Amino acid sequence: MRNSRREFLVTAAATGTITLLPFSARAADVFKSAAGDFTVHPVAHASFVLETPAGVIYSDPVGDPALYAELPAPDLILVTHRHGDHYNAETLAALGTDSTPIITCQDVLDQMPDGVKERAGAMGHDAGTEWNGVSISAIPAYNLDPERQNFHPKDRGDNGFVLGFDGFTVYISGDTEDIPEMRALEGIDLAFLCMNLPFTMTAEAAASAVAEFRPKYVYPYHYRGRDGGTQDPKAFAEMVGDAAEVKLVDWYPDDDNL
Ligand code: ZN
Ligand code: ZN
Repeated sequence: MRNSRREFLVTAAATGTITLLPFSARAADVFKSAAGDFTVHPVAHASFVLETPAGVIYSDPVGDPALYAELPAPDLILVTHRHGDHYNAETLAALGTDSTPIITCQDVLDQMPDGVKERAGAMGHDAGTEWNGVSISAIPAYNLDPERQNFHPKDRGDNGFVLGFDGFTVYISGDTEDIPEMRALEGIDLAFLCMNLPFTMTAEAAASAVAEFRPKYVYPYHYRGRDGGTQDPKAFAEMVGDAAEVKLVDWYPDDDNL
């Protein structure tokens, strides 16, 4: 390969998968709807901040609390499951106030330390709740492949979340494969869909699910894997085609090795 670094950067920038902006300058995407504006601030990997007409929602915030310092403070925090790229008690303790609610699954609630647990509640898959006029339901998140069962066993009760605003619906996959519960979703406007191996699923499986549940917009996220299991969000976009509008952003801004 004789490509210079400069050529590499130009090529990479052209794919839309890499941005070289400092965090504070990263563009946020705004989605306008009858329910109002929704602004997405990707943070890293599985962590993002969603500004909504009902308040600011943090999804799986982990890492240095300084990552969130320039973002609006949370009014609600969602935690899908126990893994360190989704749940970090120290990060949670540093975000929001003593009364900022956290919604998670029973497995995470059971292991939360004092000081965080008091403001958290667990949601099962058969229940719904309401927050500031938003209907929140948890849907399952688990592995289908027998060889991946140890990562997200169905009986642990890991969560994905569906947030129903008046006229705008958001789906956050958590860590899962292309399970029937995902494929059966209807009326999703904005989806956050994981893909990586060996932990979740391939870009092909994620694109196949999108062809079935047809969210209006979809962010491939959580796409870095292990042992060559990183999935290519651009390949995902090509496979999705016109089934949904794919939003490509750099979920790994602090890594120079992309
Ligand atoms: Zn996980
Ligand atoms: Zn994960």
